[in-house]
Amino acid sequence: MGKLEVINPRTGRADHAIAAATQQDVAQKAAALRAAQPEWEAMGVGGRCAVMARWLNAVKARAADIGEADAHDTGGCHTSYIQGFITMGNIGGWLEDAPKAFAALDYDAMSPSMPSVRVQSQVVAYPLVGVISPWNAPLMLALLDAVPALFAGSAVLLKPSEVTPRVIETLFETVREVPELAQVFDYVMGAGDVGQAVIGEADTICFTGSVPTGRKVAMACAERLIPCHLELGGKDPCIVTASADLDRATTAVLRGAVYATGQVCYSVERVYVARDIHDAFVAMLVEKAKAVRLNSDNPRGGHIGPFTHGPQADIVAGHIEDAVAKGAKVQCGGEIENIDGGRYLRPTVLTGVTHDMAIMQEETFGPTIPIMAYDDVDEAVRLANDTRFGLTASVIAGDEEEAEGIGRRLNAGGIFLQDTFLTFAKMRTFGTDSFGWSGHGAPRIGPESLRRFLRRKSLLTQTGDVADIQNDHHLGDGR
Ligand code: NDP
Repeated sequence: MGKLEVINPRTGRADHAIAAATQQDVAQKAAALRAAQPEWEAMGVGGRCAVMARWLNAVKARAADIGEADAHDTGGCHTSYIQGFITMGNIGGWLEDAPKAFAALDYDAMSPSMPSVRVQSQVVAYPLVGVISPWNAPLMLALLDAVPALFAGSAVLLKPSEVTPRVIETLFETVREVPELAQVFDYVMGAGDVGQAVIGEADTICFTGSVPTGRKVAMACAERLIPCHLELGGKDPCIVTASADLDRATTAVLRGAVYATGQVCYSVERVYVARDIHDAFVAMLVEKAKAVRLNSDNPRGGHIGPFTHGPQADIVAGHIEDAVAKGAKVQCGGEIENIDGGRYLRPTVLTGVTHDMAIMQEETFGPTIPIMAYDDVDEAVRLANDTRFGLTASVIAGDEEEAEGIGRRLNAGGIFLQDTFLTFAKMRTFGTDSFGWSGHGAPRIGPESLRRFLRRKSLLTQTGDVADIQNDHHLGDGR
């Protein structure tokens, strides 16, 4: 095993190390998980719920430690410290929803197309699910897929990002407290080659990460003819209409764009504001943006933390530089600050941007708010839809009806009306699809999410006479 150093985002220095798994390590872990999986599946959803309820208690007892580890990995702020509680919500939600999802797949009735045939449904889990997860929200994005896969009856092999391994190590201390679970849920550490090794072993893959890596993952899965579910990047727009309440709109846009330093797949990354209110909107937004505090002196304080992955700061700086070189104006922020080794960027409002700039086309993944004025709603819709991505979009208008009318014309899987950042509201509702490059495969949210890990079989019983090849009327007399 090779050793990989792990950087602390607050100091820029290595303060942790992981042993990168070899191909043999991955194969061995995969074989052990496969060997344990049949018993896990045979428990039925009720049996698995009983085990998962014990895990929920173990997570509850360590929720604060999990939050600390997440904060160490990512650089802190409120979003990290609540990760233990979010994990509890995830497991607890599936304790209620998994039995219902299984029940919805039951079928036992005489066939409507061949009335003498009884049709029964059976669901069978994919034995081994591989989960490959990114460094932003490292715990939540690993468990969004792993938890429903476990409830479905699969074993799970997780490959977290090498950038943020600490919280996964802490989480697995809770997994080991539940021996039946520990037999079917394991992880391997390492970089992209370890991710590829996981693809080489698994029966289906859930990947969350960037478009270029997602493409490599999809190609490796295609080579093995296994399904893959990709949750990729975004360039999510927000439209603010002339009738919008300025205070509401600026507050929602600021939070949607800079929460977690903008390192959220569904961050607001482009803002289109009606020309009539553009200047007033910018003035109010800049005033609020300047009040956002860094957490450099206290990981629990402030509003935004450092870049979790230091090199991400260079990508963000490149987008700002490109925009300025092409005529954009920085209204506030704009400079990467190095504080005690951590790399920070204050909320950065840019005006005079165009779609020729990287900051309006490529995922920035930083606390930037590029704003463009539009003249009529058709233009705003055209600009918002002028993207290769389509994860989420927001509309803030004078009233809900106006916002909904515009939202229905936008191409994205989640449309937030009269606010931004509402993804959590649909967690337990129904699955939605990503548009364009933002994703591929079945939804990861709602009951459909669990269905990704199940193959459905039909058992067809002939309860009448068998058909005679010389007198075959069973499909109707179409001769
Ligand atoms: P990456 O695509 O760089 O990495 C994602 C994971 O893939 C990491 O575990 C990484 O390992 C691993 N990996 C790297 N190369 C390979 C390879 N060749 N084969 C298999 N696995 C590989 O994404 P980031 O970690 O930079 O995460 C940020 C991205 O994630 C953003 O684009 C963001 O939009 C997206 N994202 C999407 C979400 C969604 O739900 N749509 C949610 C959150 C983030 P390692 O890091 O160790 O190199």
